Amino acid sequence: MKSNRRSTHPAPESGIARLVAVSNRLPIALRKVGGKWQIQPGGGGLVTAISPVLRHRGGLWIGWSGTTEEVNWETELDGASLSAGYTLVPVTLTHDEAENFYLGFANQIIWPLFHDLQTRCNFEPIFWRYYLQVNNKYASVIASHSQPSDFIWVHDYHLMTIAQSLRALGIERKTGFFLHIPFPPVDIFFRLPWRAQILQALLEFDILGFQTLRDRRNFIQCLQYLSPSLKTSGHGAVLTVNIAGRSVRIGSFPISIDFDEFAVHSASREVESRVRWLKESMLGSQIVLGVDRLDYTKGLPERLNAFRLALQNHPDIRRRLTFVQVVVPSRTDVLEYQALKAEVEQLVGEINGEFTTAGWVPIHYIFRNLQRDELLAYYRTAQVALVTPVKDGMNLVAKEYCACHLDDDGVLILSEFAGAAAELQRGALLVNPYDVEGVAQAIYKAFSLSADEKRARMRRLRDSIKKRDIYYWVDSYLKAALSKKLHDFPMVEDYVPPILLRTEI
Ligand code: UDP
Repeated sequence: MKSNRRSTHPAPESGIARLVAVSNRLPIALRKVGGKWQIQPGGGGLVTAISPVLRHRGGLWIGWSGTTEEVNWETELDGASLSAGYTLVPVTLTHDEAENFYLGFANQIIWPLFHDLQTRCNFEPIFWRYYLQVNNKYASVIASHSQPSDFIWVHDYHLMTIAQSLRALGIERKTGFFLHIPFPPVDIFFRLPWRAQILQALLEFDILGFQTLRDRRNFIQCLQYLSPSLKTSGHGAVLTVNIAGRSVRIGSFPISIDFDEFAVHSASREVESRVRWLKESMLGSQIVLGVDRLDYTKGLPERLNAFRLALQNHPDIRRRLTFVQVVVPSRTDVLEYQALKAEVEQLVGEINGEFTTAGWVPIHYIFRNLQRDELLAYYRTAQVALVTPVKDGMNLVAKEYCACHLDDDGVLILSEFAGAAAELQRGALLVNPYDVEGVAQAIYKAFSLSADEKRARMRRLRDSIKKRDIYYWVDSYLKAALSKKLHDFPMVEDYVPPILLRTEI
């Protein structure tokens, strides 16, 4: 697909003119409704983070649409490109590729392994062959849609061997990789049968980005385990390793959110009126909020058990606290996720059965994707956010919650195993999500903190997120990769105002 919109600005001095983002999925999903394709906005942290970066800059986003059916891409995706202010380029996957690459290697090997849950891994050899095949396919699409002056920015664990594939095709591009999920410690990573191949393939990128210093340290320790003589140079967030005559930069770049956009939107009339309505309907009960994709890394059963324990140990909080748990459907065709959903729903049922009294239901359970106004209203209204993944690359919900607390109120209870804990530990109440008693105590503590302490903590959190927002993230990555900032990638002047997927893409 091609863009008909042009920049009137000169190309930046580095010679890099365009950003080309590549991720497993496009920031949209195609669904067939009544025999016709419908475009729906994609969800999740990656879309939230990358969309504001590409928006209005006329770059490309290459990825899979999520369907293996035949689609006329020219007609279906052109409208979406127009609305997004950049061009969407689809990669098509066959049914077998989707099964073995996506549901297999990505979801049954890398996802659990990199979240330290190695017992959930299925190290099926055929998955690896499909992983390489599909990465080659993405590389071919990049080769035919990009120019030598593009920066190819590859996102996440589905596409770790793309730079190697490009090199095999003889395509010379400046390439960068960012891992949105954690990188595991050496003793966990080394269970991967293809550990050496993955490390070698990653070193074909010009720059590798990780969420935290811990992830970067784990990665470098894995490299040094295989090549003990390998040395790093430099200091600070970005180090360099020299390998086979090339230098590869390896940095820690904690991803973030468009803080100002969240703050402004959460002060809008639409959100304000929802906040008023929510407060009225809660009849004076404070909201403790959880917002998570359905995933076993999010610690949902542990969190529900902790809430149950808080109600058991502290009868004074009954009726005065209501736990609103939003679960966004994800991978619902996978048995493991169906089992998790059943487990969560059974626990919600049990706890509500045990504690509900006339006029008060302790857990409001929402299983759907919320409209943005609705989500922001929950963020603003909730006095406590309970963000307790057993492991998470970053966790944007933690940052979004704080950005929406315009009055510096609200308490963030945060898992020490979320990437966000490295930046937010001074303002949040940190917990070990496996320590059900500790989390129950933190809920009670959050409820009992003085208004002054809440304000001081929330101010600290908001200051830190505002200072290091999504633009800071992209600038620090591009600076390390190209010695450039986002502003060096010019805005598209005859940009058509977004109509179809305005806030979502
Ligand atoms: N989110 C959403 N729909 C909802 C609730 C949340 O799209 O109904 C978004 C939320 O705003 C956040 C993302 O989903 O940007 C979740 O990102 P996070 O990093 O917390 O977790 P991930 O899903 O990427 O593991």
